[in-house]
Amino acid sequence: MRQRDIPGLRQFLAGNPELSISPSRSNSTMVEGSFSFSAETRGYERIDDTYQLKIIIPDAFPGELPSVIETGGKIPRDGNYHVNPGNNTLCLGSPLRLFFLIREERTLVKFAEKCLVPYLYAISHRLRFGGDFPFGELAHGQEGIVFDYMNLFRLKSREQVLSTLEILSKRKRVANKRPCPCGCRKSLGSCDFRWKINKFRLVASRRWFRQDSLGGNT
Ligand SMILES: [Zn+2]
Repeated sequence: MRQRDIPGLRQFLAGNPELSISPSRSNSTMVEGSFSFSAETRGYERIDDTYQLKIIIPDAFPGELPSVIETGGKIPRDGNYHVNPGNNTLCLGSPLRLFFLIREERTLVKFAEKCLVPYLYAISHRLRFGGDFPFGELAHGQEGIVFDYMNLFRLKSREQVLSTLEILSKRKRVANKRPCPCGCRKSLGSCDFRWKINKFRLVASRRWFRQDSLGGNT
């Protein structure tokens, strides 16, 4: 079986002995089995739980994000648990937020720790205790993605988000001459918003911002 050089895969498998590599389509590696975690968040109960998962890791990881499917039938597919209709992948959060969460260590181990476990914790919490998600509602669908980006960029409107994504798909030199998306009526190059833009340039590539930032596939 082919095993690609995915950052953190070996450590991830070592730390999760009930997961193993399964045959998969080209351009990706599939890890399958029981994933157990123990987590808590301030003010909420510690939860130990196990899910049957299929984790599909693109060869381009960390330039592209893994997708995760729950195969044990534990998570209801009724729209309240953030399972994408159609392909049944778990909606772990907006893609830019997921990149942002692993920006300092772009490995599968970090992806599991920062993106997957918080989602599963929230799901387990809702399954056991009902009520709201401990972290508030997760982003869902394209409107959810845009809303989450408003929070990440600290902007107020959909239009500002879309123009920020467009700016992030341009080279710095070109972008700096454009009107700033923050609404200051200056060019980006003369507004402090450019520092935020520069920070997000490190989180994902120009190509990604151009093609995939709203969840579309290439
Ligand atoms: Zn500005």
